[in-house]
Amino acid sequence: MKELSIAEVLAEVAVLVKPHFGKGRTADYIPSLASVPGTKFGMAVRTVAGEEHVIGDADEGFSVQSITKVFALGLALNRIGDEVWTRVGKEPSGTPFNHLSLLEAEKGVPRNPFINAGALAITDVLLDVSPDPAGLVRDFAGFLADEPVEIDATVAASELANAWQNRAIASLMRGQGTITHEPEAVVAAYCRQCALTMSCRQLARAFLPLAAGGFSPVAQETIFHERLTRRLNALLLTCGIYDSVGNFAYRVGLPSKSGVGGGIVAVIPGKATVAVWSPELDRFGTSVVGTAALEAFSQITNCSVL
Ligand code: GLN
Repeated sequence: MKELSIAEVLAEVAVLVKPHFGKGRTADYIPSLASVPGTKFGMAVRTVAGEEHVIGDADEGFSVQSITKVFALGLALNRIGDEVWTRVGKEPSGTPFNHLSLLEAEKGVPRNPFINAGALAITDVLLDVSPDPAGLVRDFAGFLADEPVEIDATVAASELANAWQNRAIASLMRGQGTITHEPEAVVAAYCRQCALTMSCRQLARAFLPLAAGGFSPVAQETIFHERLTRRLNALLLTCGIYDSVGNFAYRVGLPSKSGVGGGIVAVIPGKATVAVWSPELDRFGTSVVGTAALEAFSQITNCSVL
């Protein structure tokens, strides 16, 4: 059988995902995300070799939310190295991304850097480096994407006005000594970081170092050591999709990170990155259509790492 080109695969995926629209719901606990049309769908592939292919709304910016946690972790690891692991663990949590239960039982040390507690601890680390950690994350993401990206102040304010769960998490951690700055400052910086707007094309470019042994073919610079790159991919594979990470690995088989804006970025080590966006979420906060798209892509191209 003739091998399909990437453009042909994307066209096939866009058809295959059609029955999955309407099955999920846009995030409504951040009010300004609730109004994003559920019909949106974009996908971008960027190869290590330099090919770039997109389909649908791949150039439309959306709220990347928890996907920013990968940039923040990368910055923290580059700044303070393994000391990060005294603040957060490396285990999947098996509980929803904003839960407090394990945190209390485990003395304020979050299971991993991608659940909210872990990301708040990383924000706390970055607050030692800059009064505006979200600005650091924005500039890093823009550098990796090779074009400026912006924080949506409306989305940030909308989340902050409703961030009671994250305030509770930050307060608990402040009490346990695992964050050192004022909880309100940490939560505000975190909400601002999550409100970063990027497109699928930009995300696929920005994640490329994770597919290219740490080197960014876009920025033409080594971003992470090779070993750190492998480790970041291991964390994505085990913790990137919260409490549905097992099912996601079963279906897609790629290190990936999701966000409640409906974006998912997947890494095909050595080969490419794939970013997808569709705002309707499953009950775990991951895009329904996005997951179906990555599953189809992984099956058609046989690119699963597992
Ligand atoms: N800002 C969101 C929150 O804290 C991010 C969650 C996500 O994308 N999974 O709830």
